[in-house]
Amino acid sequence: MLTIAIQNKGRLNEDTVALMADAGITASASHRKLISDAKGFPLHVLYLRDDDIPQAVAMGVADIGIVGLNEVLEKEQDVDVAMNLGFGACRLSLAVPKAVDYPGLSWFEGKRVATSYPVILRNFFTERNIHAFVHEIAGSVEVAPAVGMADAIFDIVSSGGTLIQNGLREEETVIKSEAVLIANPHIDEEKRRDLDKLMFRFKSIIESKGMKYVLMNLPKVKIDEAVAILPGMKSPTILPLADKEWVSLHVVLHEDTLWEKIEQLKEIGASDILVLALENVIR
Ligand code: ATP
Ligand code: MG
Repeated sequence: MLTIAIQNKGRLNEDTVALMADAGITASASHRKLISDAKGFPLHVLYLRDDDIPQAVAMGVADIGIVGLNEVLEKEQDVDVAMNLGFGACRLSLAVPKAVDYPGLSWFEGKRVATSYPVILRNFFTERNIHAFVHEIAGSVEVAPAVGMADAIFDIVSSGGTLIQNGLREEETVIKSEAVLIANPHIDEEKRRDLDKLMFRFKSIIESKGMKYVLMNLPKVKIDEAVAILPGMKSPTILPLADKEWVSLHVVLHEDTLWEKIEQLKEIGASDILVLALENVIR
């Protein structure tokens, strides 16, 4: 049976438990336990700090794990990134005090940079042939320049609000991160099959995010025009109505283009448009 390591508490815990729930897998959200059995899928769930998840998976203590890509890159453990999970988005960026007149990366030559991600930062500077001093600090990285511990910082940014509050300006994005599913590269056939099943469930959930099921009535003569407007998974479903001049058209649309498409469809005569939430797309 597969063992999955997930964050015991913190920013990824809730979304991880929610993704599993959408996939029909009930895991206790409780971080007071170290391990529990999930319902709805043959799975042990191991609750760890996110820092420890890459190593736990590399060692085979867990077969798979859900953790930020930033931790995977920092820990340099032997794990496969099996898929992106579409939550926990953030970036790791270099930021400098706002008074600095920043000419480009060369500014960092000889500077002290505080970070909790020394491995990623050293790799980045080495690749660009910049000689800077990487100071590892465990937390509150953003206050380091103000208290004189560093000239700049390298830290997680999501909205950028924390940087601004601390008088810093983001200058270079080094990596973009999101939560990923990682796997031990050496799991056996049976576990690999279970992992494939789990990934199939996750993929269908992620793909259906933001999708809506749209139904409308359309004059029969407008079918070709409607098909030209709609992307559709293959093509829209057209069903006859009792009134022979009209059809019912069903299509799945992404919410990003939903209103634009609906307006175009209305213009060609679509009416009685229903927009329904879509739970899952299974291809
Ligand atoms: P732990 O106690 O498990 O070590 P932590 O304090 O290291 O937790 P969290 O703050 O819970 O970590 O963040 C977990 C992950 O969430 C990060 O590694 C990152 O991938 C992601 N994340 C997304 N947005 C942010 C953000 N604004 N700040 C920090 N992490 C973020
Ligand atoms: Mg951590």
